[in-house]
Amino acid sequence: MKISFPYMGTSHIAFKMLVKDLGHEPVVPPKPSKKTLTYGTQNSPEFACLPFKILLGSYLEAIEQGAELIITSGGAGPCRAGYYGVLHQKILQDLGHDTKITVMESPYRDIIDFLGKIRSVIKPGGVSWWTFIRVFKKAWEKLKALDDAEILSHEIRPFEISRGETTKVFKKCLDIIDEAYTLKEIQEAAEVTKKMLKSIHQDRSRRVLNVGIVGEIYVVLEPFANLEIETMLGEMGVQTHRSIYLSDWTRENTGFESKANVIKAASPYIDELFGGHGICSVGHTVLYSKKGFDGVVQLAPFTCIPEIVAKSILTQVTHDYGIPVLTVFLDEQTGKAGLQTRLEAFVDLLGQKRDVIEGAAMEGIAI
Ligand code: SF4
Repeated sequence: MKISFPYMGTSHIAFKMLVKDLGHEPVVPPKPSKKTLTYGTQNSPEFACLPFKILLGSYLEAIEQGAELIITSGGAGPCRAGYYGVLHQKILQDLGHDTKITVMESPYRDIIDFLGKIRSVIKPGGVSWWTFIRVFKKAWEKLKALDDAEILSHEIRPFEISRGETTKVFKKCLDIIDEAYTLKEIQEAAEVTKKMLKSIHQDRSRRVLNVGIVGEIYVVLEPFANLEIETMLGEMGVQTHRSIYLSDWTRENTGFESKANVIKAASPYIDELFGGHGICSVGHTVLYSKKGFDGVVQLAPFTCIPEIVAKSILTQVTHDYGIPVLTVFLDEQTGKAGLQTRLEAFVDLLGQKRDVIEGAAMEGIAI
């Protein structure tokens, strides 16, 4: 069967291998582009959020490539993510496509449903549960290798001597990880790519700013949706630290906070889940502030209720902790040039703030 999945950051590289290992033909949708967004926008309700539109466009492109089944993730809580699968399926049907969408909900919500859906994806007479666990572990290793390489690229980019070199090397790293197939090859690829990134010519004497990236998961993870904001910031001399990666392992091993810590940090402001990653945007901003970050960028799809609620709370977090937060609302009208100008102004502000604080500290003045 030809199986496709959402295109989100670099994760398609791991999902492609997993689908193949399960005995199916993977259909990797093209990297999201203007065409994807046009497809999605033309066929979505006007006020659907940006991830909904990009995903729909992506599914339509996958169907053009012959996808017979699309596997996607669900969502819980009071936000539209939980309806994505149903609505996408309805729109595809109305457009005359019989491609089925299987929504994988969290196993914590309904383990029987989760296992039943996994079983339905495993090729009949194909792999055993044991093999499934083995190939799943392999895909997980690949996901970790991809995340590790990306985290390192964001750390190195602001120090690169030749602008754009990190981006070029990172693309090569993705190819190397993509080609690795066995567990051993994947682990070797992870080491090789780490070395490649570390050998980029850098000027470590630069004083870089540290900015945390929070917000809704899809726009945080997919560079097309956020107009490659992390690359833009990196090339402006800013080290970015993203609060969300797909692999939890990577998060825990690279200084990321556990979700419980994040929710605890948000609790003085809000102690109820209000959908999406809203509460995490608040909690992560508090934690970034406590860790001495210079600022935070919140990425929010236009009309995203959880991030709108978070934005209103973040005003108080800024007041209490003095951490500047720039909220960027993203939709199909958002342009790269406008975003670049806003980021430059924000980075200027952060630099001036740091100079004032350091100057005052040298004079022994408390601010
Ligand atoms: S979190 Fe926001 S962008 Fe994501 S589905 Fe919910 S409302 Fe839409």
